[in-house]
Amino acid sequence: MKEMICIVCPRGCHLQVNEETLEVFGNTCARGEEYGKNEIVSPMRTVTGSVKIIGGVHPRLAVRTDKAVPKEKMFEIMNKLHSFSVQSPVKRGAVLIENICDTGANIIASRNM
Ligand code: SF4
Repeated sequence: MKEMICIVCPRGCHLQVNEETLEVFGNTCARGEEYGKNEIVSPMRTVTGSVKIIGGVHPRLAVRTDKAVPKEKMFEIMNKLHSFSVQSPVKRGAVLIENICDTGANIIASRNM
């Protein structure tokens, strides 16, 4: 039995997931059941980070993926962000990198700059 905290909403239910049967206990709603199963089969995360911005009021721009990506791709994505730069101005939600690391997710700006 694997224990984890559901991060889908702020309630933070304590889950126990049977790693063989994928039965989930402790969830309050169906989203928690799905989260618990996915954490065993294929854990996913939204990646947040920053990229260099040229001509902005700050040296770096906060960015994130527009959907969750496989957890195992996080370091590869962070490495790409480290060597990527963008020119100001950038609007919040603008797609900066499409299909980052073949995940199907885009890197988008988290704010205007
Ligand atoms: S199980 Fe449902 S209510 Fe509980 S933290 Fe997850 S999403 Fe929120």
